[in-house]
Amino acid sequence: MTELQASLDAIAARAASDEDRGRVADYIPELARVDPLRFGIAVALPSGAVLSAGDADVAFSIQSISKVFTLAIALGRLGDGLWRRVGREPSGQPFNSILQLETEHGIPRNPFINAGALVVTDAILAGHKPRDLLGEILDFVREAAGDEDIHINRAVAASEAEWGARNRALAEFMRSWGNLEHPVDLVIGTYVHQCAVEMTCRQLARAGLFLTGAEGTPALVSAQRIRRINALMMTCGHYDASGDFAYRVGLPGKSGVGGGILMVVPGRASIAVWSPGLDETGNSKLGSRALEELVAATGWSVLG
Ligand code: GLN
Repeated sequence: MTELQASLDAIAARAASDEDRGRVADYIPELARVDPLRFGIAVALPSGAVLSAGDADVAFSIQSISKVFTLAIALGRLGDGLWRRVGREPSGQPFNSILQLETEHGIPRNPFINAGALVVTDAILAGHKPRDLLGEILDFVREAAGDEDIHINRAVAASEAEWGARNRALAEFMRSWGNLEHPVDLVIGTYVHQCAVEMTCRQLARAGLFLTGAEGTPALVSAQRIRRINALMMTCGHYDASGDFAYRVGLPGKSGVGGGILMVVPGRASIAVWSPGLDETGNSKLGSRALEELVAATGWSVLG
């Protein structure tokens, strides 16, 4: 435990002096206001202990990390029926690409690229008012984290809605193929709010504990689904850099353009890291580097 704390402190200290921090996302204007020098990391253990370093208590926009939680809800609600509408293959394309949608008849490659996440949100909107669904998503995340103090930043949601022409295009395109049941505005409105959930590294690390499958963690989905969500995080969690993340870090992870990454060490730990600067694939530059350092220090890997 003290060794792990020492590793986190060393990682945070190194990150603080790193000048190669990447670029903060600015296509959502509200996100561009975040201080690029922030860095936080937290490790939640099944015992309930949370170790952290740096800005681990500062809330940030989880953005695409929300796609893990909506996927868990969708699989619970629709089961394998979900896979009729979205695939489970890596796309090898940027997170907001429209390229494959045309040749693949409006069926997105996986639930973690934007098109796939929009289909997931559309699927769980069925029978719900958007406000109720957002309440359900928040309840899920709060229960997972064991923390009621998790909220949606409405300014971030409004900023993305205003500048979200690309996502609207993806949604319209899928609707033209019959793969979106609800009006585009409704789906986009819900999606930008789920992405605008804010959490600290400590909260997010705790919220990921259910994905470790470890005894004593919240039993929010079945063991089989936990394996499958982890498999998708491993193969698709970092868009066109998923293979590189798997090679360098070697564990299931999901990134967001807010600069956060949630990573699962099956059976052992849930980790959240945050540094707002992104690399050219839209993944946190210092975040993935920090995770690489953490697995080197701990020996954590898919080999157990
Ligand atoms: N809300 C963001 C978008 O749709 C999420 C993308 C991301 O985090 N990679 O563009």
